[in-house]
Amino acid sequence: MNKGFVYLVGAGPGRADLITVRGAELLKAADCIICDKLANPALLSYAGPNAEIIHVPKRIGSGSFTQQEINNLLIEKASSGKTVVRLKGGDPCIFGRGAEEAALLAEAGIDFEIVPAVTAAIAAAEYSGIMLTHRDYSSQVVFITGHEADNKANTNIDWHLLAKFPGTIVFYMAMGNLDFIVEQLIKNGMAEEMPAAVIADATLSSQRVAKASLSRISEKCKQEKTEPPAIVVIGTAADSNTKLSWFMKKPLFGRNIVVTRDVPGNAGFAAKIIKHAGNPIEFATIRIKPLTQTSQFLQTLAKLAEYDWIIFTSANGVSIFLDCLRSLQKDSRVFGPAKIAAIGSETAAKLDEFSIKADFVPTVFTGKELGKQLIGFANLKGKKILLLRSQLASDELGELLEQAGAKVDNVAIYTVVTEKSECKWLTEKIAEGAVDWLTFASPSSVKGFFAQIRSDLVNSSNVKVASIGPVTSQHLKNLGVRVDVTAREHTTDGLLAAIERTHE
Ligand code: SAH
Repeated sequence: MNKGFVYLVGAGPGRADLITVRGAELLKAADCIICDKLANPALLSYAGPNAEIIHVPKRIGSGSFTQQEINNLLIEKASSGKTVVRLKGGDPCIFGRGAEEAALLAEAGIDFEIVPAVTAAIAAAEYSGIMLTHRDYSSQVVFITGHEADNKANTNIDWHLLAKFPGTIVFYMAMGNLDFIVEQLIKNGMAEEMPAAVIADATLSSQRVAKASLSRISEKCKQEKTEPPAIVVIGTAADSNTKLSWFMKKPLFGRNIVVTRDVPGNAGFAAKIIKHAGNPIEFATIRIKPLTQTSQFLQTLAKLAEYDWIIFTSANGVSIFLDCLRSLQKDSRVFGPAKIAAIGSETAAKLDEFSIKADFVPTVFTGKELGKQLIGFANLKGKKILLLRSQLASDELGELLEQAGAKVDNVAIYTVVTEKSECKWLTEKIAEGAVDWLTFASPSSVKGFFAQIRSDLVNSSNVKVASIGPVTSQHLKNLGVRVDVTAREHTTDGLLAAIERTHE
């Protein structure tokens, strides 16, 4: 039997893509992932399909685990020969009990590796423009656990020393004891006017920063309802220049944006929104169903090389087509000499992932423009063209090409069916004004969404509606929905850019 191995992996401070490359690699290879509450659950999407995932929240309440139970799990899984990733919020050994877990593994003779990560103090400071060290005012930083800062006689904190510390003081786990911490620092000689900052939910779209002098910081947190997890920074550093607060200045920061595609499409779009500092809310309205088992498709596949042009009008179509090729043990040579056109940059990029260069991409990403511009680009008279598309696509493109003298075959490689999602929650959030944007990337999503959510609710609330292009906007208008913005470039990036422009 294989000898088990445990990787103590830091998940980083919140935002999923702040994990290290090494951490992500190990998640992909793990047989078993034992996951802390503070680790971003989105990181579990790295896990392989057969990985066992065990959540071990340590808070009080049902389903919570004691450290002893976690230790037993680590030993049990590693002893059965598994590669275990113990995924911990922030860095594994900064107030993370990584030290205890490593000691336990060493004691039990189980091999382990520690994968460091960005700890909350550093991320919270940098995502709020606070510089923990600075040549002018802070040559030293101290990290302290505020958890021990209660009236316990056995506290390790030397308040006298700390009150005189000439640098930046950072407390973890301090929210429950903030009053006591402030009292001790002032009692031991720290100036009441010393700047302080509390950063909650650092690196996430829900990040909040409360700033005040030391004597007023606790009150300020109460006013602003600052909730853990939070980092407390005390020292001149906390009085940071607001110009350096780069993250919270991003146009989509703090915006709640609903994505309404299929589940995989939503995941990709949500990741982009997070990169722009927004908060995605995934609400699947459709499901893509491949039609690549049909005899029409299989017959077409056998004679692809006879076409002059093969046209893809969505990235979904490309993925489905190439997945099908792969499952049939074929590759891109099936295209033979046929030229390939893509409706837009996302479709072309998807082809490019398979090393297929589109021969033609229009400058405006709609079916109509693709037809018009392709007619200008190549002589299509008598040419054989194959459209590989959704069963629901409109006839406009095919008709345009036929008018130019082409012989057009239209083959559906997928269809779109409506998906049901948890709409009670979303309906309430829209009604409360807690949703900033609804985004629509296709007419099918419009149909799927408004099959579940009433259009008058949307029209009468503050929520804004963003559409990827004129065809989708027209479908919204046909349902009587007010459209606030239509993307200039008809891609998900273009959609986000259009929303950003309204917030600049
Ligand atoms: N090992 C972790 C810390 C675990 S202790 C690390 O290196 O970051 C838990 C404390 O970390 C919380 O009480 C809070 O003080 C801090 N923390 C973790 N994530 C945070 C976040 N996203 N924003 C602010 N503080 C955070």
